[in-house]
Amino acid sequence: MTEPGAFVRRVIVTRVLENYIGGAWVRSSGSTLLDVKNPATGEVLAQVPLSTAGDVDAAVKAARAAFPGWRATPAVARARYLFKLRELLDAHREEIAAICTSEHGKTLSESRNDFGRGIENVEHAAGIPSLLMGQSLEDVAHGIDCQAIRQPLGVFAAVTPFNFPPMVPLWFLPYAIATGNTFVLKPSEQVPLTQRRIFELIHTLDLPAGVLNLVNGGKDVVNGLSTHPDVAGISFVGSSSVAHHVYKTGAEHGKRVQALGGAKNFIIVLPDADRERAIANVAESIYGCSGQRCLAGSIVVGVGEAYEWVREALHAAAKNIVLGDGSKPGVTMGPVVSAAAKDRILSMIEKGLQEGAKLTLDGRGATVEGCPGGNWLGPSIFEEVTPDMTIATEEIFGPVACLMRAANLDEAIALANRSRYGNAASVYTTSGKAARQFHNQIEAGMVGVNIGVAAPMAFFPFGGQKASLYGDLKAHGSAGVDFYTERKIVITRWF
Ligand code: NAD
Repeated sequence: MTEPGAFVRRVIVTRVLENYIGGAWVRSSGSTLLDVKNPATGEVLAQVPLSTAGDVDAAVKAARAAFPGWRATPAVARARYLFKLRELLDAHREEIAAICTSEHGKTLSESRNDFGRGIENVEHAAGIPSLLMGQSLEDVAHGIDCQAIRQPLGVFAAVTPFNFPPMVPLWFLPYAIATGNTFVLKPSEQVPLTQRRIFELIHTLDLPAGVLNLVNGGKDVVNGLSTHPDVAGISFVGSSSVAHHVYKTGAEHGKRVQALGGAKNFIIVLPDADRERAIANVAESIYGCSGQRCLAGSIVVGVGEAYEWVREALHAAAKNIVLGDGSKPGVTMGPVVSAAAKDRILSMIEKGLQEGAKLTLDGRGATVEGCPGGNWLGPSIFEEVTPDMTIATEEIFGPVACLMRAANLDEAIALANRSRYGNAASVYTTSGKAARQFHNQIEAGMVGVNIGVAAPMAFFPFGGQKASLYGDLKAHGSAGVDFYTERKIVITRWF
């Protein structure tokens, strides 16, 4: 197998990243450049420009110009581009996983899974001729027929977070273009290299110029896209405050918006759970990807006597974690994405201590031999967490477990439903009755029963409730097709 570093060195040569507009790589007009760093080593891999409203306008114009021709391209012909894209991405799995690990920090196996989930969306969207079919009914009245057809709307944009560099953009891009729209992506400025490489591959597809565009940058690009008169709709994934801002701004400017926000996911363990299997799964939910998944377990509620064995088993599982550079074999947890993210998580831990929680496993001083420049945080565990503490209500987005007690399932569900977030929640039990009560009553968009990371696959919609999703259409699956299409009703009478 090719050594991961070799893939990454190829990208480094690029140094200052360009935008991809109208089928060509072009320099951003922005003068501010940010360093893209390897979170395990601190090495600067490239620089990303903060593009301007002018760059956004150029990308939207290119997408707008490509729309009439692309819309008129038969769905089956559009699907063929996705078949080709799928093959290209599949052939570059290892390379793209290595780039993802280099800029994000997650382990190579986590990067492979991240990219794999992205590719599954391309596969699903390649079935677009079937997914786009409408409905019809003869004789809705005498001699009158009615049909509902799906049509594309124009230019769509997506703004994505740092935590799944290949996957989250692929929640949107394949469906947007399969349905006949054209598209502008703004990847996270913290991890722009993975999409840079994916767009290099896209460039070889010979798609009509302007169908797919990429603009690097930060909030100016986001605001430019959310207000641009020629953008029909925008998808956002990131923290709740920005999700709400994009939802509001986009709606005020007449756009369709789906804005997926942050999370505070509860895991409820009942006394009858299968102990061994439950704990391995719970620990993976909390510490996988260093706690930087929107589906990561954050609060573990031990019901009744389960509390004691959950805390003991979680400590044991956390101690087995091997912290280090995610590109190295044997490492099970990488660094957090940036020094700023580390500082934010440290301040949340400080807050937990101030508010009276007990830090029974302290990952703050963790170091990794040979990697002094990494953003290291070991696994931490807080006990005696109460519902009003900041660590119980706010997203930590790092490798920190918060343990709470509940006397019974009703109390545990009530604790979880107090949260302003509603992304995911899981229950561990061997009782079908308890599992049913849980999924019936819990206020979360994605529910796991003996599953700690309840991630819907491409053919199901992905998204939460409450402050975890602004808008009513989730990402991918049938919701993705709905988001990207107008359902037009045609009523016909022939004299
Ligand atoms: P973030 O909100 O900081 O950034 C997300 C995107 O918004 C980036 O592209 C960034 O450039 C842009 N942005 C940041 N600040 C902005 C501002 N003030 N105005 C306009 N745009 C701005 O999020 P992040 O740190 O990259 O990602 C982590 C967050 O994403 C967590 O809250 C996590 O729960 C959430 N997330 C949610 C889901 C989900 O499905 N609900 C999935 C993945 C991540």
